[in-house]
Amino acid sequence: MRTLFVTGGMGFIGSNFVRYWLQRHPKDRIVNYDLLTYAGQPANMADAAGLPNYRFVQGDIADADAVRRVLDEEGVDTVVHFAAESHVDRSIADPQAFVRTNVLGTGCLLEEARRAGVPRFVHISTDEVYGALGEEGVFTETTPLAPNSPYAASKAGSDLLARAYFETYGFPVIITRCSNNYGPYQYPEKLIPTIITRAMRDEPVPVYGDGLHVRDWLYVEDHCAAIDRVLHQGILGEVYNIGGCNERTNLDIVRTILTELGKPESLIRFVPDRLGHDRRYAIDPAKIASRLGWQPQVPLEEGLKRTVAWYAANEAWWRETAKRGGSV
Ligand code: NAD
Repeated sequence: MRTLFVTGGMGFIGSNFVRYWLQRHPKDRIVNYDLLTYAGQPANMADAAGLPNYRFVQGDIADADAVRRVLDEEGVDTVVHFAAESHVDRSIADPQAFVRTNVLGTGCLLEEARRAGVPRFVHISTDEVYGALGEEGVFTETTPLAPNSPYAASKAGSDLLARAYFETYGFPVIITRCSNNYGPYQYPEKLIPTIITRAMRDEPVPVYGDGLHVRDWLYVEDHCAAIDRVLHQGILGEVYNIGGCNERTNLDIVRTILTELGKPESLIRFVPDRLGHDRRYAIDPAKIASRLGWQPQVPLEEGLKRTVAWYAANEAWWRETAKRGGSV
């Protein structure tokens, strides 16, 4: 029986992870610590609210006193750190918010967890810390970090701080670097929910540049299962890449979703490219597959079907959620 301190558990991946964990490990206790920015909301975890082994605490990872109080109260034995500013376009408009939460906030959380003697800290990083690939090649765990956007740079800063806490203090950190996730509860500003929710309303679907940027997509539940493996079997101080081996251009994704919804391609609108837009990401997940026995279970087409069905069934959620964030 464990007590997990999950940061950012009201956001997209964090809420899917908390739900996944409570179902698979019902004897464990979860403390969900989240600031509730525009991207996080209690509605994402409404189904867990009354459970005796679930507690929500609203708080900032950059608030050392608040983090210390909860760690002291709860006897936490594992931190799973998702909380972050996570949207690349917002990082281009306001990089400071990303430095504050992702770098300073993670630094604060690591320090408080170290002082509290937490025996395991899983840091959720991203493949974007590696920068961009050309037409060939894949990211392995030893690919040098070369982040391009302010978001990716701030995540690389937090990733390297986590590494330094292991190297310097022997603090028990494990780092995961995952490719693009999709699935239920993803904030409507991100690519796949934008496509779905706009197409459902017969509104134009914006596609950056020529639409040929390539991402390696992973269904969020497969990401949660990978973190489960890392948490139980991962080796302290190691990095694990997580990816679905599902490389697709953005245009492929848009066309697949339009077909699923029965909407015409005439909804597609090419818009000026994002500044510094990374051309291609692709993860080599060989290490987590061979050492921890993890494999993604949900094929992309099936995952997209499930995701489209979820947004179709949860229109009130995404309409309300979208109001929180304002425009980018
Ligand atoms: P999200 O934006 O949906 O959720 C972030 C959550 O963090 C929100 O609930 C928000 O309220 C909370 N938060 C923000 N600042 C906080 C602070 N200062 N203190 C406490 N809580 C705070 O993000 P997501 O897409 O679920 O991503 C979660 C993590 O996974 C991030 O660290 C992200 O970098 C990483 N990641 C995401 C993807 C992806 O495709 N979405 C891929 C790889 C890695």
